[in-house]
Amino acid sequence: MASRLYLSPPYLSGEEQAFVQEALASGWIAPLGPQVEAFEREFAETVGVPYALALSSGTAALHLALIEAGVQAGDEVAVSTLTFAASAFPIVYLGARPVFIDSERQSWNMDPDLLAEWLNRRARVGRLPKAVVLVHLYGQSANILPIQELCQRYGIALVEDAAEALGATYCGKAPGTFGLAGIYSFNGNKIITTSGGGMLVSHDERLIAHARKLATQAREPFPYYEHAEIGYNYRLSNLLAAVGRAQLHTLEQRVQKRRWIFEQYRLRLQHLPGVEFMPEAPWGQCTRWLSVILLDPNEFGATPETVRLALEAENIESRPIWKPLHLQPVFAGCETVGGAVAEDLFRRGLCLPSGTGMTEADIERVVEVIQRVHANCRKP
Ligand SMILES: *Cc1c(COP(=O)(O)O)cnc(C)c1O
Repeated sequence: MASRLYLSPPYLSGEEQAFVQEALASGWIAPLGPQVEAFEREFAETVGVPYALALSSGTAALHLALIEAGVQAGDEVAVSTLTFAASAFPIVYLGARPVFIDSERQSWNMDPDLLAEWLNRRARVGRLPKAVVLVHLYGQSANILPIQELCQRYGIALVEDAAEALGATYCGKAPGTFGLAGIYSFNGNKIITTSGGGMLVSHDERLIAHARKLATQAREPFPYYEHAEIGYNYRLSNLLAAVGRAQLHTLEQRVQKRRWIFEQYRLRLQHLPGVEFMPEAPWGQCTRWLSVILLDPNEFGATPETVRLALEAENIESRPIWKPLHLQPVFAGCETVGGAVAEDLFRRGLCLPSGTGMTEADIERVVEVIQRVHANCRKP
């Protein structure tokens, strides 16, 4: 059997050893240290913000972002429904309630018109949410500006979950850098990885300084251990920051490679009936972190699940689109605004192998299976 083709495995740039060696040689294997500081500085430059805080995960970054946004028990927070559950879990950590907002079809991200209608209704009854968590899915920026305007008009904090969108653009700038705070993830499957890690960014120096304090067990500046707030152990280790620096140096090549992979799939599959590709919205560049297709079972002749199983039989990993959060058992009973678009995308969607290390032969393996499933289904 051919070797396993994963959805989005870690890819080494080649410089990691040298950076980790440097960290080890310096003796800084404790959390924090010069690699963390350099990683934060270089990351901030890459996305174009003045301040960044390296953390143990993207989820930790979102948790701190929501604390800094002032979210408290009993508050509501609007969040995209079509996303990974970690976009909403930290809302619940704080005792707040998520309200799920449907996607629009241009980018598959939060629909600004739906959000506007809902906020308008809520403003009239004096029940505005505390924050909006805007997710940038599969390497594509949401339509940020209208959502940012709404947040400004109603005095709501905008927090961007750009965990999947490092390297993307929106009007020439990085999604994640528009709101009060933005978060990124360096989990093993993301476009760059530290094996586990995240980053919180902001234009607000005080916000990052306070989040830094909370992430370091909320120590007050005393010689002994003094605590006036509840803290967390959320900092990134110096060793992992060294890996992150090496990965970050090759971000642009990674984006170009993933876009190339998407184009290869498109060239080979677009003529098949019932196959659609994730659109690229006109406002920026999608990284194609994952190559995602939609299959119409009636036209294509098979469901996405049939294709997934056929790929699996060839030792190829593929995955359905995120199951919308308003359909998740753990969020049963939460308010949802719309939902039909996300449900339709979930029903028809399939994420194909998209790793930075993929070769043309790897892509051919995937394409052949999909073509075969289609051909077999059309036989009487
Ligand atoms: C990966 C991911 C997260 C969480 O990041 P971790 O580093 O795994 O904690 C949050 N939101 C989205 C959309 C993600 O894809």
